[in-house]
Amino acid sequence: MKHVIDFGPIPALPVAGGSDLFPVGRIYCVGRNYAEHAREMGHDPDREPPFFFMKPANAIVPNGATIPFPQATQDLHHEIELVVALGKGGANIAVEKALDHVWGYGVGLDMTRRDLQGEAKKMGRPWEMGKSFDNSAPCTALLPASRIGHPAKGAICLKVNGAIKQKGDLSEMIWNVPETIAYLSGLVTLQPGDLIYSGTPAGVGPVQPGDKLEGHVDGVGDLTITYAK
Ligand code: MN
Repeated sequence: MKHVIDFGPIPALPVAGGSDLFPVGRIYCVGRNYAEHAREMGHDPDREPPFFFMKPANAIVPNGATIPFPQATQDLHHEIELVVALGKGGANIAVEKALDHVWGYGVGLDMTRRDLQGEAKKMGRPWEMGKSFDNSAPCTALLPASRIGHPAKGAICLKVNGAIKQKGDLSEMIWNVPETIAYLSGLVTLQPGDLIYSGTPAGVGPVQPGDKLEGHVDGVGDLTITYAK
């Protein structure tokens, strides 16, 4: 038996209302999944199949944390999102079976270095340095679907320093959760422990050092993240 070198805890999210931890595998994120947000980013929401990018598992940040303002950006943006946690993997999952693969849900932030993302778009380069950086994936404790069901409608919103900035409804997703899982599983074999950040409603905008972000998804929970001054 080989000994595994201990570099400290593996990425995991708490399970709400208990002491269990959900080990986080890959983090997939859906781009432009709400029509109004696609429009505010200059795209036609009716034309595109879903597309995906990733964040490292260790980009997760627990609810309530104060985190350092990230390096290398002058334009950090908030994107509030419903997070889907998979408990069962698979490839080529049918839409009708997709929710059987969901373990639970959380409220997350897809933090974005918009300046670096914009530059990458312009140059035809990957988005990673705009999306996949330290502390870029805050998320609440996960709620099991066995307890809350599968939220398909309800408010999703974000306040910055108490002022409402993003507001939408889960029912406005262009590709809903089962469709997203089915489509993504046609591209990669999904694994238990994978998270899917399911896209953000309109109203994305800048975050400054010292800002307090408060996200909410009806029936799922509330996320608070503060940026250090
Ligand atoms: Mn996003």
